[in-house]
Amino acid sequence: MSVEIQQKIVMKQNSPSKSPISKTTKKVTKTPSPKKNVKKSLIKYLASPPKTETKAKTPSKSESKAHNEHQSSKTAIPKKKLIQNLIQLDQEIINSTQDNSKNISPKKKTKNQLSPIKDFSYRPPSNTVFDLQEYLDDLQARQIDEDLHDSDYKFLKKQILQSKKAVVVTGAGISVASGIPDFRSQEGIFKQIKEKTNSENNDISMGTGKDMFDFNFIYSSPKALSLFNDMIFDLHKKIKNTQNTAFHGFIDNLAKKKKLKRCYTQNIDGFETHLDNLVIKHPISLKKKEWPNVIQLHGSINHLHCIKCRKIFDIEDKHFEGQINKKEGSDSLDYFIGEDNTVQISDLLPDCPECAEAESVRIVAGKRPQGVGKLRSNIILYNEEHPESEGIGRVVESDILTNSDLLIICGTTLKIPGVKRIVKEFSKSIESKKQETGEGGAIIWLGNEIPSQSIVDYVEYIDLVVLGDCQKFAKMTEKWFE
Ligand SMILES: [Zn+2]
Repeated sequence: MSVEIQQKIVMKQNSPSKSPISKTTKKVTKTPSPKKNVKKSLIKYLASPPKTETKAKTPSKSESKAHNEHQSSKTAIPKKKLIQNLIQLDQEIINSTQDNSKNISPKKKTKNQLSPIKDFSYRPPSNTVFDLQEYLDDLQARQIDEDLHDSDYKFLKKQILQSKKAVVVTGAGISVASGIPDFRSQEGIFKQIKEKTNSENNDISMGTGKDMFDFNFIYSSPKALSLFNDMIFDLHKKIKNTQNTAFHGFIDNLAKKKKLKRCYTQNIDGFETHLDNLVIKHPISLKKKEWPNVIQLHGSINHLHCIKCRKIFDIEDKHFEGQINKKEGSDSLDYFIGEDNTVQISDLLPDCPECAEAESVRIVAGKRPQGVGKLRSNIILYNEEHPESEGIGRVVESDILTNSDLLIICGTTLKIPGVKRIVKEFSKSIESKKQETGEGGAIIWLGNEIPSQSIVDYVEYIDLVVLGDCQKFAKMTEKWFE
């Protein structure tokens, strides 16, 4: 009986009628080669500084499932639950007939089942939802540590293990578990800053907390800049003393096993640098050999750059000493309300040591002084030109041309148009390669929410939506890399 059920499952997995390949081939042949379009689209991306777009409606799980069915009308969603029930029944029968079966360690069983994964050819219909929590609960109930009969799980594992050029695109969702607040969520930094500022000040107008990341607001007055500096310094200290999340560990594992082509992150926290195999570098060079494996798309909270010579420095306590000393322990806001309010914006920005040295050399040589630049935060603000756009554009372009074989999108809802376009380009490139060679490659969406309908339509080729906590996902994969 168990063999029979096993065969049924295999047939389900390998049945040609269930495979979406014939359908997607038609779709992709209409898609122009991504190589031709790379440059144009990147220029479009880089021309616009990070701005939010109108919030797209997120469909409920049932709506998305309905969409899946629509997307693959000829390719029914795998009846996972049914399969799981069959397996469960299958196991119960084995357990009841073999007294020693309970003594088989799950680990040993798992290893014995690993070999067929290479020949596993199942591919889920586009936008199939793999409910991670449901899967993990099921494992717990059955007291096993992995279920290689679950086609979606097996597909996910295979794609990650066979990948050699994975691209990971991340957002705030991967860092939330560290305790550093998300910028846009209800309890996020925007909200905290707005409440704090509006309750303590009546001479400063902050429309939304987002103003705190707006170039025009921050540099509008010494007080606004002082608030910004306080926030940067506090956040930097917090991040320095906080541990990275398990998902950062997952990206590190990809790099350790030589599977990571690049991680593109929207996060400014730089948690990646807490790990051995991940590297962040600013400025992002125009030379390929100098590119780090982690690209921060929106700058870094841990760096400052000179507004004159553009040199970048690691942030240090001394950069804030001037401001802190002037405050003499009092609240920065009291300092500005004081009688002797002669502080200028430039007083709140440290001098650039590079410019200062060049200036002193000029003076000694009797040359005309050129001035010393000021250091400012290396976070990319709203309403400013992206200073590293050219470098980022080159990395993205090169990575697309070198044919990535896996794209994982995690912890982001893709609200920033530039990031959305990067995802689209990688997705097109992977799909195109898949059709050309008939081989693997996958686009995986990972997060607590199903992507909005507009994102599903825009990205077009999502293979699997892993619905659940990315930290649990990361912990689940740890044993894969052992
Ligand atoms: Zn300088």
